[in-house]
Amino acid sequence: MGVRRSMRTTVALVGTIAVAGVGLLAPAQAAPDRQQSDPPPKQPVATGSGGAVATVDADATAAGLEVLRRGGNAVDAAVAAAAALGVSEPFSAGIGGGGFFVYYDARSGEVSTLDGRESAPATATATRFINPATGQPLAFLEARVSGLSVGTPGTLATWAEALDRWGRRSLARNLAPAIDLAEDGFVVDQTFRSQVEANAAIFADFPATAELYLPGGAPPAVGTVLPNPDLAATYRQIARHGTDVFYEGPIADEIAATVQDPPVRDGATRVVRPGDLTADDLAGYEVIEREPTLVDYRGLQVYGMPPPSSGGSTVGEALNILENYDLGAMDEAQALHHYLEATALAFADRNRYVGDPDVVDVPLDELLSQEFADERACLLDPDAAAPKPVAPGVPDGDYGACATSAEPAAVADDGSTTHLTTADRWGNVVAYTLTIEQTGGSGIAVPGRGFLLNNELTDFNFAPTQGSAPDPNLPGPDKRPRSSMAPTIVLDGDGDPLLALGSPGGATIIGTVLQTLVNRIDLGMDLPTALAAPRLFQPNAVNTSAEPAIDGGPLGAILEDVYRHTLMPTPEIGAATAIEFLGKHRLQAVAEPVRRGGGSAAVLHPRR
Ligand code: GLU
Repeated sequence: MGVRRSMRTTVALVGTIAVAGVGLLAPAQAAPDRQQSDPPPKQPVATGSGGAVATVDADATAAGLEVLRRGGNAVDAAVAAAAALGVSEPFSAGIGGGGFFVYYDARSGEVSTLDGRESAPATATATRFINPATGQPLAFLEARVSGLSVGTPGTLATWAEALDRWGRRSLARNLAPAIDLAEDGFVVDQTFRSQVEANAAIFADFPATAELYLPGGAPPAVGTVLPNPDLAATYRQIARHGTDVFYEGPIADEIAATVQDPPVRDGATRVVRPGDLTADDLAGYEVIEREPTLVDYRGLQVYGMPPPSSGGSTVGEALNILENYDLGAMDEAQALHHYLEATALAFADRNRYVGDPDVVDVPLDELLSQEFADERACLLDPDAAAPKPVAPGVPDGDYGACATSAEPAAVADDGSTTHLTTADRWGNVVAYTLTIEQTGGSGIAVPGRGFLLNNELTDFNFAPTQGSAPDPNLPGPDKRPRSSMAPTIVLDGDGDPLLALGSPGGATIIGTVLQTLVNRIDLGMDLPTALAAPRLFQPNAVNTSAEPAIDGGPLGAILEDVYRHTLMPTPEIGAATAIEFLGKHRLQAVAEPVRRGGGSAAVLHPRR
């Protein structure tokens, strides 16, 4: 099987949907043409031994578990689960998208990362999302639902690369459970149906997409069994012939043709701009191995994803800032105030400095240095929220008195993604976040192939955001857009795995991962409680997003009245999954009990 490989490392760092809701179609009334069956059982917490899988979806967790049971390792299980998510969570994951894979290898004790982020076409320019007719940035929806937003997908290459390096089984064997799932169908739940409803007007404009997700012209009813025979056939073709059929064969040609001439239905009034992705862009795609980010936090080693994701650097910088405070000695409101302020400071630096490191110069080791964080921490008022946005710092190696520079910049980032976490009997661990960007990606399916194309390139800034300073995240040829995905693995003081976690949620991913770490490490919550706890998020903006349990409760009142945060009610932030290693080969897999309808955690040998 052809494996697309590229070895590139960054400096070692130690111490170092809203879519048109109009015109929604009525629910499908027709009875499903397959007999309804029960989805696999779903539980948010599982404790035991022998390996673990935590995903947002019961079918995907079952796929990962089956692979572990048959002798696969954490990497095999991660690929099997991700491939199943391509069937049952197609609006968040799939071979039309990209992601970041973080791996702890038990034998070597090393953490590695793979960057499978989508890249822009070779012809991309900084004005990609500027409307030539007006000179103004395109409206987000117009950019999203277009060929312009589609980057070269990296997900399949990531699976192949991860398996080639660390897996025990072939890609073909790991695709088998997903092929079965695509053939037999999965049971539509309320989350799936709601995601289709939110996208119905878009999907209806693309016959290939409508055929997949608007059976009979309407969103599938909850309980319907929905197969995807086209995806089953695509997976099977990949299983037989390897990833070249996708990157250099017929599928590459079909992806390029779809992007260059989006197959819109006759009579659609939507403006769907063509893109410029070519078969050569696909043939040239590389998965990149990058040195993980690493910070020491309270004696633990926190490994994350380096640029082009801002996940590792922003979580890491915020943790370094928080290292200055004894959060465990604070009450919850005071600790959360510190978490929010540290996040805002780190976001200011993320926005100013982080982009694709192969194109822009990212001062990553400085952003992750304790000295820089200490300088930033002196701007954190323990008693009151700073007016937002705060200005970025100067990561120049010369630190001392509190100093700021440059104009502040705002962040706008939203979308949908999925995170999965796996571990095996040998002690290997995977934290893998993958996405097609918005829930439903570009909305454009490749005809006859059963998968949606991403809109990842809308993660670029459409126009400069940094005032007179250069913007690190403008589009460019072969450039990868900045991400917030933050697959994270934490090792204890002996270098053994302690935690692995991640989440979807665009920029909020950084807050979800950070808050879960603070909850678990500093506030004494066990992992299920840390993950279920109500969330807040502060991306260096005037408003702090707050889930209802905080916004309407006493904690919210203290944050507003005492610490002067402006809370903005937000129904739900993130959808995390995690694993904790409890010692003596015991582990605990954890998923959301409620958010996005609840996730699915499983261990190979449940504790009796
Ligand atoms: N495209 C986003 C990113 O890379 C992820 C979208 C989401 O998680 O919802 O940061």
